[in-house]
Amino acid sequence: MPEISPADYDRIVVFTGAGMSAESGVPTYRGSGGIWHEYDWEAFACQQAFETNPHKVLAFHHVRRKAVLQCKPHAGHFILSQLENKYKNINIITQNIDGMHQRAGSGDVIELHGSLWRARCEQCGKSMEDYTGVQLEKSCVCGYDLRPAIVWFGDSLDENILEEALGIMENCDLFISIGTSGQVWPAAGFPMAAKQSGAILIEINTEANETSHIYDHSCRGKAGDVLMQVFGLWLER
Ligand code: NAD
Repeated sequence: MPEISPADYDRIVVFTGAGMSAESGVPTYRGSGGIWHEYDWEAFACQQAFETNPHKVLAFHHVRRKAVLQCKPHAGHFILSQLENKYKNINIITQNIDGMHQRAGSGDVIELHGSLWRARCEQCGKSMEDYTGVQLEKSCVCGYDLRPAIVWFGDSLDENILEEALGIMENCDLFISIGTSGQVWPAAGFPMAAKQSGAILIEINTEANETSHIYDHSCRGKAGDVLMQVFGLWLER
């Protein structure tokens, strides 16, 4: 693993997945202990489920928020937010919906798959956000029911968010992927998009997966530990 000086790059993209939050105790969705072993996503995480039984779906998200609130951002989240404040050339693009980056002090996080802490109105387009409470508003000011602002199974990504993320990727010269298995599209295409923009690709993951070969450097270890090894010194300088 090369020593990385953030100031040597024009644009650094940090791309995070469920493995980034695993160290905080937020369960993954797949793999051992994953949420979809316990819950059937067709009954809890798609538009049809919400239309069939909104109370059941909202209660599921309520439970998820409660679980996430009991978890705390780990050292890796704080390292990223400090780097972001010290060097202005860093963007965080996350697949996570848990708001951990924001709780660690990161601003302008691009949330590709939405947020557990936001609800949106399909009627008037308003959205409401609250990072502190487990109970989000159920109704919009226009009277329509709000739905969790999460990209559920069968939903498309928000086009504006996707466009913003891809725009940043075009100018990225260092791409650091942390804790993602690279199975969920279109996010899974981001590392290759960064490579095509000429970026150096670094993977931080406890284990290799099918996408590992496209990275220039792979660091095997926990997100918090590796981030401390790679960037800890730069924060002290
Ligand atoms: P994934 O569950 O498919 O893969 C997690 C990856 O993290 C694996 O490759 C695993 O080896 C790695 N990993 C596990 N612990 C790690 C650690 N401590 N340090 C570094 N790497 C570690 O996750 P994904 O690729 O993000 O895809 C899952 C999808 O589900 C995403 O779209 C996301 O929106 C959603 N999701 C979000 C959350 C969350 O918000 N915290 C949690 C679960 C799933």
